[in-house]
Amino acid sequence: MQVKLDLHNHSCLSPCANDDFSPALLAVEAMEQGIQILALTDHNSARNLAPFQEACQLCGILPLFGLEVSTVEEVHVLTLFSHLKDAQQFGSFIEFLLPEQKNRTDLFGNQLVVDIDGEVIETVDKLLVGSTSLAFSDVVEEALSRDALVIPAHIDRFANSVLANLGFLPDLPYTALEAIHLPVQADTHHLAILTGSDAHCLEQVGRRSCFIEMEEISYEALKKSLSEAKNISYRQ
Ligand SMILES: [Zn+2]
Ligand SMILES: [Zn+2]
Repeated sequence: MQVKLDLHNHSCLSPCANDDFSPALLAVEAMEQGIQILALTDHNSARNLAPFQEACQLCGILPLFGLEVSTVEEVHVLTLFSHLKDAQQFGSFIEFLLPEQKNRTDLFGNQLVVDIDGEVIETVDKLLVGSTSLAFSDVVEEALSRDALVIPAHIDRFANSVLANLGFLPDLPYTALEAIHLPVQADTHHLAILTGSDAHCLEQVGRRSCFIEMEEISYEALKKSLSEAKNISYRQ
């Protein structure tokens, strides 16, 4: 079966995202667009993943519990978990490795932890968009050891990408790659290449969804399809 997926999206926890862009709004909009597997990947934090799970269950979407981790080289890496608890534990570990720098809401925006209704439960003081102290290869290895899917983000972007910041794609056992424009003008090691919306507001949900052939809608089937790196299409 062909499954529509979008594995890169933010919520109001990411300071660069809109304050009213709750995890539940993301899930409802994704459902309306026929997205069947959806990830929430806030910057360096898992704190909005619990309401995301609740919302995806109500919407009949398979959720992947993600973080977009910033490495010490300022490369962004998507790390996606099957289980909420595993993502939350990884999230605590990653947040701890961020510099002790307070968020400046006037510069960066708010970092809001919300419930399923979008009500604000907590405002995070520590700046979540800084770089962790982990090297790119350490993020990849650490997340893989925790059974996450590991996907270097927007590899063809001019900033915060493995190709721009490191100059090449190190030979590591990534699950897949994410790109904005296809085909990518670089050696991509025959890995599966996905597109993701990287939505920071409601209007951006689904703008770069993609399709993949899978046996069934499950985390394991997705992992298998990505490892085979074929039958991915990008029509909207
Ligand atoms: Zn990014
Ligand atoms: Zn992003």
